[in-house]
Amino acid sequence: MNSQLDRLQQMISGSRKIVFFGGAGVSTESGIPDFRSANGLYRRPYSGASQTETYAPEELLSHTMYRDNPELFFAFYRSHMLYPQAKPNEAHKKLAEMEQTGICRAVVTQNIDGLHQAAGSQAVYELHGSVHRNHCERCGRQYPMEYVLHSRGIPRCACGGVVKPSVVLYEEALPEEAVHGALEAITQADMLIVAGTSLSVYPASGFVHYFSGAHLVIINQTPTPLDQEADLVIQGAVGETLKQIRLEEIKKHPS
Ligand code: NAD
Repeated sequence: MNSQLDRLQQMISGSRKIVFFGGAGVSTESGIPDFRSANGLYRRPYSGASQTETYAPEELLSHTMYRDNPELFFAFYRSHMLYPQAKPNEAHKKLAEMEQTGICRAVVTQNIDGLHQAAGSQAVYELHGSVHRNHCERCGRQYPMEYVLHSRGIPRCACGGVVKPSVVLYEEALPEEAVHGALEAITQADMLIVAGTSLSVYPASGFVHYFSGAHLVIINQTPTPLDQEADLVIQGAVGETLKQIRLEEIKKHPS
């Protein structure tokens, strides 16, 4: 084990209220592209969109686009935001194990892919919603991701209303319950692991400033605006890194 991993191991072994704050980079090792990496969505042509206009992803995933041009919104959403085959990777799995051990109090995620829950984590605060929840805007009926994935054009409810993904679009507010839970967990944490996020999407990225515990760790492929403030910065893949953490010697702690 190298010295950075040793330090991470020591910090994790000595902490009891760890909170993990993650972004799209947590799921790249599951085959879901992030937005801002070299292979990210922002650098790819928008195949699947039915029109040739070149919109920025922020525009395509905005409330304005959903309201004014829902055909284009859903074409982009279906082809670029839904990954039904994706499976939890080593990062998701280790975090679920850490929760089981009683040392990880919460996962706060900007992701919408549901992979933390698929790995077994229960205390998950989804700041940007989930592709797995979809609701009719008229009658409120709930639909699974597959319904939106396999629909054509604008997905419609049996009542005729539009089925909207419960993901937070640009210009929309964050869900209150998730915000409250996330801030409480971060405020009480003794260790915060920030990983796989460029920390450039507000207001979510501002949440990390509520942390005042002992160890702030960043695991990211590229530098982040928070690196200067961190106690440990590991430039690398989060799944590969967390995979090497040993939990066997940590006694089970009641949460
Ligand atoms: P981002 O694309 O802005 O940044 C991702 C960061 O992760 C980059 O700094 C990159 O260097 C790093 N990274 C990539 N792979 C990594 C890995 N294996 N290990 C460690 N670091 C890695 O993502 P963001 O900050 O989360 O903001 C983008 C927004 O788009 C968020 O709101 C997010 O929810 C959403 N989004 C979600 C998904 C998803 O649900 N999987 C996918 C794409 C975008």
